[in-house]
Amino acid sequence: MPIYEQIFGAFSQDSNNPLSRISQANSCISLDPFVGCSLSCAYCYRYNSKRDANVSTPRKLFADETLVKSLINNPYFIPSKTIIGIHTASTEAFSPEVADSTFNIMNLLVDKGYKNPFWLVIKSGIPKNSYKMFRYIVKRCKGIIISISYSDLPSSVEPFKNDRFKNIKEAIKAGVRISLHLRPVVVGWNDKYENIEKSILVGVKNGCQSICVGGLRFLKGIKYAITKKHKLRFPKIEENELKKTLSPKTINFINKVLKNYKINIPVFLHSSEMISNFLGISDYNLYKFRGNKKLFLRIPLREQAVIEKQKNKRTKKLIKEAIQELRLKNCKVEINCGNVTLSRILTYIEERGLIHKLGLEKFF
Ligand code: SF4
Repeated sequence: MPIYEQIFGAFSQDSNNPLSRISQANSCISLDPFVGCSLSCAYCYRYNSKRDANVSTPRKLFADETLVKSLINNPYFIPSKTIIGIHTASTEAFSPEVADSTFNIMNLLVDKGYKNPFWLVIKSGIPKNSYKMFRYIVKRCKGIIISISYSDLPSSVEPFKNDRFKNIKEAIKAGVRISLHLRPVVVGWNDKYENIEKSILVGVKNGCQSICVGGLRFLKGIKYAITKKHKLRFPKIEENELKKTLSPKTINFINKVLKNYKINIPVFLHSSEMISNFLGISDYNLYKFRGNKKLFLRIPLREQAVIEKQKNKRTKKLIKEAIQELRLKNCKVEINCGNVTLSRILTYIEERGLIHKLGLEKFF
């Protein structure tokens, strides 16, 4: 049963507010003007949102222009830096009903002079004759990255079996960067060596320039959809909403396939690392500095010195500025021997927003 009214990380819980279709995701801010997807993946995150869970035909809720305007006015949006996901939390970006909106949103932003990178996660290939549209946008922004989701899942889990790499060469020719989204890899579904081998060989043959592997995140709505809607046994994954379960065996299989076939492309565990690699920037999700619930970040003194020299400001000052610009209330920062603590626990949106602000703008 879905437990949230809106998409996870939505900036508003009010369905009449366009911010209800703009969400702070782990690796981007996602714009989702549509509700509904016909591809019926059993593990879809939409099942955790009451508004999205049971809609199978894509239907537009807000005009693209309305969402772009709301995005630009949101303090979490960093002009020309924030990674903009399009339809990543709600539907398939290149399904026939949605494809025009995908290009339109990118055009609206670049035509206003924003150079923000775009990130799409797709399963249906890209529309024919899209070279010119991609080329126009690629020349005006910091990059378009497309993750093609393919991990050889059974049809009971992913019924959609069309060619996921359809027309992808047009995008590559236009300068779009392509990564194989080897996700989700789930014990008992697709975690055998043969599944991993097939996925990587198909991805690489079709031009994927990196691999980003991941498991399945536990969410109550997804458990309900898998077991009750799709009548499948729920896989053995950790019941933690903030963690994806991935077996070390999967990483060994990936390394074995790359070695056996002499494939030399990078492998990432986090989408932000894959995106950062394509953009040639430091990982904006600051995984190397992450602390825990009580400790916000742990920044080695050597790294602090580098940041402070480059920015000509103390690290504490940079964090304070970010907190103010995001308008986080009652949030004070302290740094002691590289340990960064905050005076209160942040919400998911605040925490990811602050990390992205530091990683994309303040530190690097
Ligand atoms: S394609 Fe994406 S949005 Fe559509 S059902 Fe599958 S996971 Fe959900």
